[in-house]
Amino acid sequence: MHPYLSHLECPICHRHYRLEEVSYTCPTCGEAGTLDIVYDYERLRQDITPEQISAQTAPESLNLWRYRPLLPVLDDAFIPPLHIGWTPLLRAPRLAAALEVKEIWLKDEGRNPTASLKDRASAMVAARAAEIGAEVITTASSGNAAAALAGVCASVGIRCVIFVPHTAPQAKITQLLVYGATVFLVKGTYDDAFDLSVQAAKEYGWYCRNTGMNPFTTEGKKTAAFEIAEQLGWTAPDVILVSVGDGNIIAGQYKGFYDLYQMGWIDRMPRLIGVQAEGSSSMVRAWAEERDPVSMTVEPATTVADSISVGLPRDRVKAMRAVRATNGSYLSVPDTAILAAIPELARAAGVFAEPAASTVLAGLHRALETGLVGHQERVALLITGHGLKDIKSAIASVEAEGKIAHPVEPSMDGVRQLAKELGLA
Ligand SMILES: *Cc1c(COP(=O)(O)O)cnc(C)c1O
Ligand SMILES: [Zn+2]
Repeated sequence: MHPYLSHLECPICHRHYRLEEVSYTCPTCGEAGTLDIVYDYERLRQDITPEQISAQTAPESLNLWRYRPLLPVLDDAFIPPLHIGWTPLLRAPRLAAALEVKEIWLKDEGRNPTASLKDRASAMVAARAAEIGAEVITTASSGNAAAALAGVCASVGIRCVIFVPHTAPQAKITQLLVYGATVFLVKGTYDDAFDLSVQAAKEYGWYCRNTGMNPFTTEGKKTAAFEIAEQLGWTAPDVILVSVGDGNIIAGQYKGFYDLYQMGWIDRMPRLIGVQAEGSSSMVRAWAEERDPVSMTVEPATTVADSISVGLPRDRVKAMRAVRATNGSYLSVPDTAILAAIPELARAAGVFAEPAASTVLAGLHRALETGLVGHQERVALLITGHGLKDIKSAIASVEAEGKIAHPVEPSMDGVRQLAKELGLA
C-alpha cells in the first residue's frame, strides 16, 4: 500500500472513496465530479522535508518521480522509463523588461519527450494501467494528450487506442502513428471524440486516460507546480498564467500548490489566471456570470489554438475552484494575439511555443492592461507545448507580420546586394 495516499474525494459532494473503489468520476455526481486524490498531509509533514526532495541531484532523479511520496503510484516497477518532467524554469529578463514586469519565469514544458506538458499525465496513467493490469489504454485528445500517451505506452509496451478530431495538426497525428498507436480519426469535434472514447472504453473494457475523467491526470500535471516551487527555492510566484481547455492543467497546478501548502513547504498559494481563446471561452463566461460550472453544457468552440479548443471543459469544477480559491481570474484573448505571441515569446526568450502555449503571453498583456497583474509582481507563464507541434500556425504567425526568408542568388554578389537592401551593409 501507499504510505501517504489517503482517499479519493469529490469536489462537488465531498464524498470519499477508496482508490480501488472508483476508476473515474464520482458515482453520485456523474461526469462533472472529477475526483481529487488526497494524501495524509500530517504524516507527510512529519516524514519528509523539502530539503530531502531537493537533495536528490543524481541524473536519474531529475524527473517528476522525485516527488514519489506525493504521487499515487504503488510500486516503482510500474514507472515508465522516459525522462518526463524537471523541465527548465527559465528567467526571461528581456521579456520582463519589454512588458515592464518585475520578474517573468517560463516553465518550458515543450522540453518533455513528446513536447508537451501532457507527458506528465500520461506517465501517471500508464503507471496506474500497469498496476491494474490493463492491456489497452484509450484516450480522446485534441492531439497532445494522445501523443503523450502514445509515447509513454511505446516505452512500456502497452497498446493504446486514440480518438482524435480529424482537424488535429498533422505533426500531432504523425506522432501517434510513429509511436505505433491505433488512431481513430473522428470526423467531428474533440467533444465528439471524448464521448466516443468513453463509450468504447466501456464496451471493450479499455482503461481510459481521458483528461479530467481519469483522476491520475491531475496528479501528473501537478508535478509542474511542484517543480516551479522547488526551482524557486520552495516559494510560489505571485501569479501563474495557465491556458485552459478542459481545465485539467490549471486544476493540476492548483492541486500541486495545494499539496505543498498543506505540508507547509510553501507559505502561500499563487494566484492562478486561466487564459482561453475568445472562440473557446466557456470558462471565462461562466466565471464572469458566476455560474455553477456543474451546469455548463457543450458550446461551439473554434480557435487556432487547437489544444484549447473545447466545447465543454471536462474538469470545469476543479478549474473553477482553482481560480476562485486563489483569488485569480479568467480572461480570453483573440486568435490574432495568440499568433502574435508566438514570435514575440521566441524572440524575447528563445522559447518556441505552440498557439495554446503562447496564449498565456497574450493573456499576460491583457492582464497587465486591465490591472489583473501588477508590474511589481513575480509572474510565471506555463509554456505548455512546443511550437513544432503546429507548424501551420507558426507560419501564419510570421506571415501575419510580413516576415519572410529572403531569396538570394548563389553568389557573393547576390549576398552583397541583399545585405545592402536589408541595411546590413
Ligand atoms: C492540453 C493543453 C492545454 C490545455 O490543458 P487543459 O487541461 O485541457 O485545460 C494547453 N496547452 C497545451 C499545449 C495543451 O496540450
Ligand atoms: Zn460527488
